[in-house]
Amino acid sequence: KTTHFGFRTVESKDKAGMVAGVFHSVAAKYDLMNDLMSGGIHRLWKQFTIESSAVRPGQKVLDIAGGTGDLAAKFSRLVGSQGKVVLADINDSMLKVGREKLTNKGIVDNIEYVQANAECLPFPDNHFDCITIAFGLRNVTDKDAAIRSMLRVLKPGGRLLILEFSKPSSELLGKVYDRYSFDILPKMGKLVTNDEESYRYLAESIRMHPDQETLKGMMDEAGFVDTRYHNLTGGIVALHRGIKP
Ligand code: SAM
Repeated sequence: KTTHFGFRTVESKDKAGMVAGVFHSVAAKYDLMNDLMSGGIHRLWKQFTIESSAVRPGQKVLDIAGGTGDLAAKFSRLVGSQGKVVLADINDSMLKVGREKLTNKGIVDNIEYVQANAECLPFPDNHFDCITIAFGLRNVTDKDAAIRSMLRVLKPGGRLLILEFSKPSSELLGKVYDRYSFDILPKMGKLVTNDEESYRYLAESIRMHPDQETLKGMMDEAGFVDTRYHNLTGGIVALHRGIKP
């Protein structure tokens, strides 16, 4: 089966190309789908991330895999006119929606938009005070390379925050959630975007993603210190934090 954005099936296409296809396809309806799929709760997860960031006026923040800019918009207010926010994403369709929504509407003037791959970030060493990656790491092919790359561009003492789907802490919640993501989500995707495949990919990518302890171990391995995580909504989502020594 070929979907309208040009990949055949989830299995038959390499991951990077498939991820690009998925996000080109959903960019226009991405914000609406986020609200529908999570019942608006993604806003609370993102707010918690901002509150955990300890970002202050004048600082430099990178939101990688930032998509349509939800976190970048909030950081933009926190860092103020003396600060800088870089909204980076591998996908120009997602960045375009973000730029339209924020800069072109005159809502912010301190966000820079950069098309970049998290695995090899095009920024100098020791550059950012804080880096966030929200619902993005799951899509990255070489996650260890991405974590190392984020470590490199952080300043010593800077923090990395990874907001991502994770493993529900109770078996019952896990079962209900599996049902929801494999049965209901793709149907919802079909109704709203006429694109069932992309939302089936979403459910599969969530199931494949490393759980809380595994991701924490990957951050330790890369060289982050003081790593910890906080479960949100019963572990459906977790916020991981690490500091660059
Ligand atoms: N952070 C936004 C949010 O929370 O609403 C967007 C999340 S969206 C689910 C995932 C984003 O990751 C997409 O915009 C996609 O283009 C981007 N992405 C996927 N692989 C990437 C990579 N290797 N480097 C940078 N961005 C990537």
